[in-house]
Amino acid sequence: MMKLRLHGRIVALLIGLVLAAQLATFAVVHLATERSVRAQLSEELAVGERVWRRFHEARGEQLLETALVLADDFGLKAAVASGDPATVESALRNHASRVGADAAVMLGPDGRWLAGLQGDSPGWRGDGLAAPLAAAEAEGFSLSALPVEGRLYQLALIPVMAPNRIGWVGIGTAVDGAYAGDFQALTGLDASFARDGAGGLDVFASSLSGPARESLAQLSPAQLPTGEAVRDVALGEEHWFVLALPMSGSGEPPVRVLLQGSLDQAMAPYATLKTRILWLSGLAAALALLVAGFLGRGISRPVVELAEAAQRVQDGDYSRPIAVHGQDEIGRLAAAFGHMQQGIAAREQRILHQAHHDGLTGLPNRSLARERLDAALGSARVAVLMLDLDRFKEINDTLGHGFGDQVLEEVGKRLRQAVRPGDLVARLGGDEFMVLMHDVDADFAASRARLLLEQLRKPLDLPSTRINLDASLGLALHPDHGDDAQTLLRRADIALYDAKQNRSGVAVYTQGRDEVHLRQLALVGDLRQSIARGQLSLRFQPKVDLATRRVAHVEALLRWQHHTLGPVSPDEFIPLSERSGFVHEITRFVLDTALAQNARWRTGGVDLGVAVNLSAMDLMDADLPDFVQACLRQHQVPPHRLILEVTEGALMRDVDYAIRMLHRLRAGGVRLSIDDFGTGYSSLAQLKRMPVDEIKIDKSFVMHMTEESDDAVIVRSTIELGHNMGLKVIAEGVETDVSLGLLSRYRCDMVQGYFFSPPLEAGPLLEWCRRYSEATA
Ligand code: C2E
Ligand code: CA
Ligand code: CA
Repeated sequence: MMKLRLHGRIVALLIGLVLAAQLATFAVVHLATERSVRAQLSEELAVGERVWRRFHEARGEQLLETALVLADDFGLKAAVASGDPATVESALRNHASRVGADAAVMLGPDGRWLAGLQGDSPGWRGDGLAAPLAAAEAEGFSLSALPVEGRLYQLALIPVMAPNRIGWVGIGTAVDGAYAGDFQALTGLDASFARDGAGGLDVFASSLSGPARESLAQLSPAQLPTGEAVRDVALGEEHWFVLALPMSGSGEPPVRVLLQGSLDQAMAPYATLKTRILWLSGLAAALALLVAGFLGRGISRPVVELAEAAQRVQDGDYSRPIAVHGQDEIGRLAAAFGHMQQGIAAREQRILHQAHHDGLTGLPNRSLARERLDAALGSARVAVLMLDLDRFKEINDTLGHGFGDQVLEEVGKRLRQAVRPGDLVARLGGDEFMVLMHDVDADFAASRARLLLEQLRKPLDLPSTRINLDASLGLALHPDHGDDAQTLLRRADIALYDAKQNRSGVAVYTQGRDEVHLRQLALVGDLRQSIARGQLSLRFQPKVDLATRRVAHVEALLRWQHHTLGPVSPDEFIPLSERSGFVHEITRFVLDTALAQNARWRTGGVDLGVAVNLSAMDLMDADLPDFVQACLRQHQVPPHRLILEVTEGALMRDVDYAIRMLHRLRAGGVRLSIDDFGTGYSSLAQLKRMPVDEIKIDKSFVMHMTEESDDAVIVRSTIELGHNMGLKVIAEGVETDVSLGLLSRYRCDMVQGYFFSPPLEAGPLLEWCRRYSEATA
C-alpha cells in the first residue's frame, strides 16, 4: 500500500514534470512558429498585392496593344466600311485567334453592336458594354473587368479611326482559372475573382479547387472588406489569409480579386517539426517513466523496509537488524532508525531486568523467582530454601539503613558464591532470600542449607564495625512437599518460621505442619470475635498451702470453645493472640472476669486469692498497671488478693523493661509470681533484681519427680534458693503423692496439680473447696 503510494507518486511527479516541460516547449514552438508563419504569410500577401498589380497591368497593356494593332488593321477598317457584319466578324476572328484573345467585339461609332465573336449574345450588346464605352469615350480607350454571363473578361476598348471614328473595337481575354493559375505560378498565392452576391460571393474563377473553392462562395462579403488588412478566414477545413483588392472595371457590385495564402500550407513544414517534438516528448516521458521507476524504487524500497522495521519494533521484535544501504539521507535515516531500535531494545532489556531484579543486590526478585520455580517444577527434584536474617531489624534500627543495605548486599554475594552454578538465588523482599536448587534430595538440600548458614555466620567487617550475622532457613522439597510453586513457597516459609521459633538454624518442612499453619490462620482470624461471641471462659485450679493444708489461691486458666473446632488449648491460642496483638484484650478480659468472680465469692463469704497469667506482651503494655488498679477498685478486691503470674521466659526477653513493669504493678499492691521457673535461664543476679513475691517451679520438673532424680535435686535447690531470697515457692504439676511427699519434705510453700484438682468452673470449684476443707479439718 505504502509502497504503491510513494513509488507511484514519485513516478507520477517525474512524468508530470517531463510532460509539462515538453508541453511548454511544444506550446512555445507552436506559438512562435504560428506567429512567424502568420507574419510571413501577411508579408507574402503584401508582396502578392504588388505583384498582382504589375501582373494585371501588364496583361492589360498587352491586351491594349493587341486592341491597337487590331484597330489599325486595314482589313478590319475595310470590313467595317463595307458594313457587312459577317466580314467584320471574320476579321475579328482572324485577329483574335492570332493573338489568342477570348472575346472580340465591334461597335458602331454610336456604340451600337455590329459584330462579335460571341454572336449577338445579350451580354455583349447594349447596356452590358455601356460602362467601358463611357470610359473609353472619356479617356480615348478603356480597360476593364467585365462580367458577362457568369464569366469574367478583361476588355480593352478603343476607337477605330479612318480617319474619323468609324466605330469601337473591343478585345478581351477571359479572367479565368488559367489566369489565376498564371498568377499563382508567379507568386505561390492563389487568386479568385468574385463579386458580392446575395447569399455570399459570386465567384467567376479561382485557382482554388475542391472544398476550399466551394466554401469560398459561401463567404459573407462583410468578412472581406476591400483593400484593407489581411483577413484570416476558414475555407472548408483549412485556414486562409485573404486580401481583397478592387479590379478596375464596371458594374455594381464591383468585381474584386481575392489573393489567398493557405495558412495550413504555410504551417505544413512546421507540422513535421511538431510531430517530431511530440515524438520526442513521448520518448522523454517513457524515459522519465523508466527513470522514475528506478528512482522511485530506489527511494521507496528502503522507506518501505523502514516502515516494515518500524512495524516489527511496534510488535516488540528487536532482533532483526535494519539493513542500511548507502550514505544518502535514507541510509542515514535507516542507520538512525537502527540505533533507535537498539536503544529501545536495550531500554526494554533494562526495564525487563528491573522488573525482574532487585535494585539493591541485583538478584532476581520474587516474581522472577516464582517464574523460575514454576519452570523448574516440570523437571525432577527441586528444593526451595527460604532464608531470613535474624535481628536484621535491629541492625537497621541501630546502625542505620545504609548499613542494612550493605549487609543485604553482602548476604546476596555470599549466597551467590555458596550455591552451585545452576542454582538460583533471589531476594524476595526485606531480609528474605530464596535459593532454588535443582536435582537434589532432602539430605543434600539440608546439608547445602547448613553450608549456606555457615557462610552467612562468618562475621561481616564493615568499615566502621564488625557484625555477626545469623539467619534461619526453611526447606521444602518437590515432589515430597508440594507440586506447585505456591504450596512449596508457603511450606518453605512455614519451615523457616519453625526454624526461627526453635532457633534451630535450618528446618525442613514436616508433613502436616501446613495444616497446623492453616488452622492457626483460621484461629487468628476468629480470635477477635471470641470474646464478643462469649466463647471464652475461665477455669480455676486451686493452689494448696502445704503448711495449713488449706486452699490459699486459685489460678484462673482461660478456655476457648470454638464454634466449629471445639475446645482450643491456651497453649495454642495464647501465642497466636500474642502474635496478632490481641493478647491485651484477652488479658483484660481475664482480669475482669477473674476479679468479678473473686468479688462474687467474697460476697458469698469465701476469701480466695486469684492468680492471673500475664503474657510476655503484657509486660510491654504501659497501660496495664492502671487497668489492674481500676479493675481492682471496680470489683472492690483488695490488691494483695490478686497474684500476677509472669513466665521466666517473658521476663528474660527485656529484663530492664520487665523489672520496671513489675515495680509499677507491685506498687499497686498486687503480688507477683515467676511462672514456669527453671525454663527461662535467668541468672541469680537477675533474679535478685526482680521485685516478685513467689516463684512457681515449672511442672516439667515436678510431674515425674522421684527420690534421687535430677528433677528432685533441682526442685529442692530451687526451693532453698527461693527461701533464701525471701520468696514463697510454689510447685505446679503435682500429680502423685510421691512428688507431694517430696515437696512437703523440701518445705515447698504451695502445691498445685491434678493430684488435687484439675482446673474447674467456678461452681464446682467452690464445691471442691468445701469438700477439701471438710476432709482436712
Ligand atoms: P501455666 O500458666 O503453666 O498453667 C498451668 C497449666 O498446667 C494449665 O494448663 C493447667 O491445666 C496445667 N496443669 C495443672 N496441673 C497439672 C498437672 O498436674 N499435670 C499437668 N500435666 N498439667 C497440669 P492449661 O490450662 O492448658 O494452660 C496452659 C498454659 O496456657 C498456661 O500455663 C499459661 O501459660 C497459658 N494460659 C492459660 N490461661 C491463660 C491466661 O488467662 N492468660 C495467659 N496469658 N496465659 C494463659
Ligand atoms: Ca500460670
Ligand atoms: Ca506454669
